[in-house]
Amino acid sequence: MPDATTECPSCALEIPADAETCPYCGYEIPRQKSSLKTAAILFALLLIWPLLKVLDWLLS
Ligand SMILES: [Zn+2]
Repeated sequence: MPDATTECPSCALEIPADAETCPYCGYEIPRQKSSLKTAAILFALLLIWPLLKVLDWLLS
């Protein structure tokens, strides 16, 4: 994903999509939703990975 940008909800300027705060007005970007989602996916993968390993071991 090259140079993803988003619009600052406060000053409406283009800012990097992964910015935590707006570089122009300092507005704190609320992005807890997406980071929570990422954390949930990572957590799920961490749980699933050992399960797959165990299944692989049981079935071999
Ligand atoms: Zn701004």
